[in-house]
Amino acid sequence: MSGEVRLFRSVKEVPPEDYYTSGRRTCAGCGPALAYRLVLKAAGPNTVVLGPTGCMYVANAHQFLTSPYAVPWFHTQLGGGGAAGIGTAAAFRALMRKGKRRPEEVNVIVFGGDGGFADIGFAGLSMGISYDYPRLLYVLYDNESYANTGIQASSTTPWGATTTFTPSGKVKKIGNERLKKNVALAMAAHPGVRYVATATLWPPLDLPNKVRKALESGGPSFIHVLTPCPKGWFTPPDLAVELSKLAVETGLWVLWEYENGRFKLTYRPSPRKHVKHYLQLQGRFAHLTADKVEIIEERTKKEWEIWEEMDRTGKLMIPWTPPPGYTENA
Ligand code: SF4
Ligand code: MG
Repeated sequence: MSGEVRLFRSVKEVPPEDYYTSGRRTCAGCGPALAYRLVLKAAGPNTVVLGPTGCMYVANAHQFLTSPYAVPWFHTQLGGGGAAGIGTAAAFRALMRKGKRRPEEVNVIVFGGDGGFADIGFAGLSMGISYDYPRLLYVLYDNESYANTGIQASSTTPWGATTTFTPSGKVKKIGNERLKKNVALAMAAHPGVRYVATATLWPPLDLPNKVRKALESGGPSFIHVLTPCPKGWFTPPDLAVELSKLAVETGLWVLWEYENGRFKLTYRPSPRKHVKHYLQLQGRFAHLTADKVEIIEERTKKEWEIWEEMDRTGKLMIPWTPPPGYTENA
């Protein structure tokens, strides 16, 4: 860490100012929109935001002369988020070195979706967190599909979910048969990275505090944020926070951080709720029969043994248990 990190101890300490405000056209109840708001609240006004193509580009930028951003923002090509982050951070460093800009701390935050960071822009993200620029933060807002183009499956779509690419039918009843890619663990495996964490929209201070830690870590950092999407998950628009909470309480979304080479769980559901409480609220899992839900529950239980082991030892491991009949290219 480059200095003492100012963490929020209560919601009363969170500043009222917003830097992601009105003027956007996301769906009602959009989880990524709330994530943007929380991240920018924590980062403050001395911030530049970049974003590759995705829902949060289309919904925030296609209106003439309106913008929800109260800080500078620019769009990058879908695979270009990683490189644009490095370039922007490098430009600020060069301008300050040449005396063309007063030395000050400027946050460069690149928001990418699962298409922009887990799939198409994965290589650029890997490069981005390999460069030692302070206050350069990559945030993956994960709505678990290509929501912007009609809910196609991505590599972070969970096993069992229906998407337009993985419909549940008479022959393939499960929906998506691939397992969700763990992008945060892959990023933590990069030697130069200072801070990696996972988050969602609950607990309320978890994401803002992890943003503060990331920006103060003194080097490249990455946060993977699970963000419910009413359109793609077939859920009512008022459930984004409730679904985030249930994802954590059922253990399907694990909150952790990797700091100075040490892994730590930041929330332990106790007792962990059965995964059905999370799955049954979402239309994308409505086709799953009770035995398929049990497969997910059993996998979650087994994987938590490994998460606990990682917390005990502080070392990275791979919690990965295939469901019965899993084949790599299903
Ligand atoms: Fe948000 Fe999903 Fe709508 Fe995209 S499709 S704007 S992520 S709710
Ligand atoms: Mg997406």
